[in-house]
Amino acid sequence: MEKLVSPKKTKEIVKKYGFQFSKSLGQNFLIDENIIYKIIDGAQIGKEDVVIEVGPGIGTLTQYLAERAKKVLAIEIDKNLIPILEGETLKGYENVEVVNADVLKVDIIKLIYEKLDGQKVKVVANLPYYVTTPIIMRFLEEEIPVKDIVVMVQKEVADRMQARPNTKDYGALTVAVQYYCKPHVITKVPRSVFIPQPKVESTVIRLKVLDKPKVEVEDREIFFKVVKASFAKRRKTLLNSLSMSSLGLDKEEIKKVLSMSSISEKRRAESLTIQEFAVLANNIAAIKK
Ligand code: SAM
Repeated sequence: MEKLVSPKKTKEIVKKYGFQFSKSLGQNFLIDENIIYKIIDGAQIGKEDVVIEVGPGIGTLTQYLAERAKKVLAIEIDKNLIPILEGETLKGYENVEVVNADVLKVDIIKLIYEKLDGQKVKVVANLPYYVTTPIIMRFLEEEIPVKDIVVMVQKEVADRMQARPNTKDYGALTVAVQYYCKPHVITKVPRSVFIPQPKVESTVIRLKVLDKPKVEVEDREIFFKVVKASFAKRRKTLLNSLSMSSLGLDKEEIKKVLSMSSISEKRRAESLTIQEFAVLANNIAAIKK
């Protein structure tokens, strides 16, 4: 069918179905073909790929994904969009399946086995900004078979994902993302390519999932606890932030693990590399045994 990606066609569909945009569901639909090509080229989608699209909206990006991929599974929370997708915009695209569900709640692994033959997926999406981090972390933390994540996110979030130590953007999200992935910015995106226009600038970022996490940790739960606790009070020294945390260690014990890790008590979270966080967490795991 004729492509949706234009302000005219998008407005036509919205009007035909009396669709009301929901701000709280982060609904900003793409109207620019160049950006769509940047997303699908960035994800290097080919005929062997199976794709999960989070939030297809009216199916603008989905149409292009379907033309390139083996199969697309599109998970959309808003039931008002389902008749538009199934009855009109994705009609005739035999390799697309739409699931009406909340991506944060649905059993994704089961869907992958039932609908995508258990094949490793590429996640491609223009994400709803109010839940960007939980959606990405769900795909990374729950041992879902994912090889690549290419997503449109708020510019500030992309800046945090690819930050380096000793910068203001470096934080718990940076460490979590870079533990699992290699981030790479594909393009910056102006507000004008969406209807309605969001209040913020956007970035398309690729998170290439590593074959194994970047660092070896004894206990993943302790590692992430240490990272979160360290950044919770990012202006304080590690000695202070960690001894005031839920790790359950007193000042003397924190002094000991910092010394075992060759990390000065005076340093702050934002100066630690991921490797240093791993050493620290492994020493904490050892003394907690
Ligand atoms: N992909 C479309 C596009 O690019 O034009 C729409 C993108 S829009 C930014 C985000 C989409 O995610 C909306 O369709 C919204 O309804 C959907 N959405 C929001 N929260 C969701 C959730 N928890 N699970 C699944 N879809 C969600």
